Amino acid sequence: MKTIGLLGGMSWESTVSYYQFINERVRERLGEQHSAKICLYSVDFDEIERLQHAGAWDRTAVVLTDAARRVERCGADFLVICTNTMHKVAPEIEKGISIPILHIADATAEAISDRGLKTVGLLGTKFTMEQDFYRGKLESEYSLKVLIPDEAERDLVHRVIYEELCLGEIKENSRDNFLEIIQNLHNKGAQGVILGCTEIALLVKQKHTDVPLFDTTMLHALRAVDIALSP
Ligand code: GLU
Repeated sequence: MKTIGLLGGMSWESTVSYYQFINERVRERLGEQHSAKICLYSVDFDEIERLQHAGAWDRTAVVLTDAARRVERCGADFLVICTNTMHKVAPEIEKGISIPILHIADATAEAISDRGLKTVGLLGTKFTMEQDFYRGKLESEYSLKVLIPDEAERDLVHRVIYEELCLGEIKENSRDNFLEIIQNLHNKGAQGVILGCTEIALLVKQKHTDVPLFDTTMLHALRAVDIALSP
C-alpha cells in the first residue's frame, strides 16, 4: 500500500472528512483491521485565510510548499491538498516537491465524465467560482461547461463557507439557501452541481436534493485510495 500525503487544515473541519473517508474506504476494500497509511500535515488556517483575502497568493504558495515538503519528508508517495481553493497555487507547490499531486479537479471531472454529464454548476469560495484556475481546468481539459451562481448567490456561498462551515457551524437556513442556489443552477441547465469546497458536504448532502451532486472531498479521497491500493 502506498502512503497518502494529506496537506490539511483548510479547514480542519473538512480534513476530518478526508481522514474518515480514506480509512473507511480502505477497510471496505481490504477488510477488517486494515487502515490507510497517511502522513498528514495540518496548517494554521487563520494564516492562510488572511493571506487569501489580502490577495497574497505568492505568500500562500511559500507556506504551503513548506508544508508539502514536510509531508514528503514524512514518507508520502503522493500529495492530496485538502481544499479546492488552494489548488490555485498547486503549480507552485508542485515545483517545490518531488512527489506528484493528485489534483482535486481531476478527481472531480473524472467522476462527472463517468456519469456522462456535460454541463455542471460550481459552488465554492469566490476564488474558486470566479477565477480560472479551477473552472478553466474543467473546461479546457474535460470539455465541461461550468455554470456559476449569480453575484449575490456567490457572496452568500462564500460567506457561509468562511463564517460558518470552516468554524463547524451547520445552519438550517444556510442549507435552504444552498439548496435554492443548487436548484437555480439546475434550472439554468446544470445537469449536476459540484460541491467545490471541501466543507460544503457537511451542510448539503445528496439526500437533500434530486440534482446530482459531486462532493469533491469524497471524490478526492476515494481517488487517493485507488492510487494507494494500485499495484
Ligand atoms: N476548504 C475550502 C475549499 O475547498 C475553503 C477553504 C480554503 O480557502 O481553503 O475551497
